[in-house]
Amino acid sequence: MAITGLDVAVYTVPTEEEESDGTLVWGSLTCIVVHVHAAEHVGLGYTYGSKAVAELIESKLAQEVEGRDELSPQAAWAAMQRALRNAGRPGAGSMAISAVDVALWDLKAKALGVSLADLLGRFHEEVPVYGSGGFTSYSDERLQKQLSTWVDDFEIPRVKIKVGRDPGRDPERLAAARAAIGDETQLFVDANGAFTRKQALHWAQRYAEYGVTYLEEPVTSEDREGLRFLRDRGPAGLAIAAGEYEWDLPQLADLSSCVDILQADVTRCGGVTNMLRADALCKARALPFSAHCAPAISAHVCAAMECVEHIEYFHDHVRAEKLLFEGTLDPAGGSLRPDPGRPGLGLTLNEDRAQELVA
Ligand SMILES: [Mg+2]
Repeated sequence: MAITGLDVAVYTVPTEEEESDGTLVWGSLTCIVVHVHAAEHVGLGYTYGSKAVAELIESKLAQEVEGRDELSPQAAWAAMQRALRNAGRPGAGSMAISAVDVALWDLKAKALGVSLADLLGRFHEEVPVYGSGGFTSYSDERLQKQLSTWVDDFEIPRVKIKVGRDPGRDPERLAAARAAIGDETQLFVDANGAFTRKQALHWAQRYAEYGVTYLEEPVTSEDREGLRFLRDRGPAGLAIAAGEYEWDLPQLADLSSCVDILQADVTRCGGVTNMLRADALCKARALPFSAHCAPAISAHVCAAMECVEHIEYFHDHVRAEKLLFEGTLDPAGGSLRPDPGRPGLGLTLNEDRAQELVA
């Protein structure tokens, strides 16, 4: 069947309170939702970014998708890459391609009557998650409550908090986190690029004292030499991770020689089509892979990725996805298990609630 067209909508989801990490403060998320239409089915995709992403989809990508075979998302992906050559592919361009690509894969899976995980071919029945939030804006009490909910109520044995806004306070915050989660839970941190190389080396050693085993973006991910320095010089038990701002395969390939764990975001890196290629990079370099955010999509794609270690079960995205969509997956027991009985991503837009969030 041929694709007859697509539509795009932009939703603003306010956060519960103002939130911050090591380098940014925010009070809402913008979610760009794409529906791709064919005769009998509708595919759904989305990304988190600016409303400019929706404009790019409407003005540059819709015409590349219309009339194409619903069973060939890769051909549409290649056409979208060509279409954005002069408009700019990295950043918003790649988010636009990612959202449409996810919708095209969801459409194909629905047309064939299988879950997206099964269409792609599973390496795993379920994929581990880690609870992620722990904003630097939280009080210690709020921090502890969020972490203990993941560990005690959902039995997720891995959690991550933000660090680096007020570094001198982080040892106290890590002690509070450790007290809330116990000794058996893995504790991760994310500095969002807040440090210089030598600062990051100092703090990496301090974090290790609290049993932290994973440090994300100690320096900006643009500083490849800095990441490599920390990977090679940091404490032996502390993995260095990065990849959430890589927009294409060459960038991911470049980064893969600088980290212990490669990350990518399916709603930024070029959609399902490119995320699967990140698995090949990891396989070739013997690296574990960790998915950045968008858990409702990542669960399906990561089930088909041999090298996946875990998915970031990010508080803001979990909340936005539960508000906007029906059919999100439950992380009880510490993993997400795509349902083989639900075609595609198994998601539908909650039209009533979405109407209240139109940007
Ligand atoms: Mg991060």
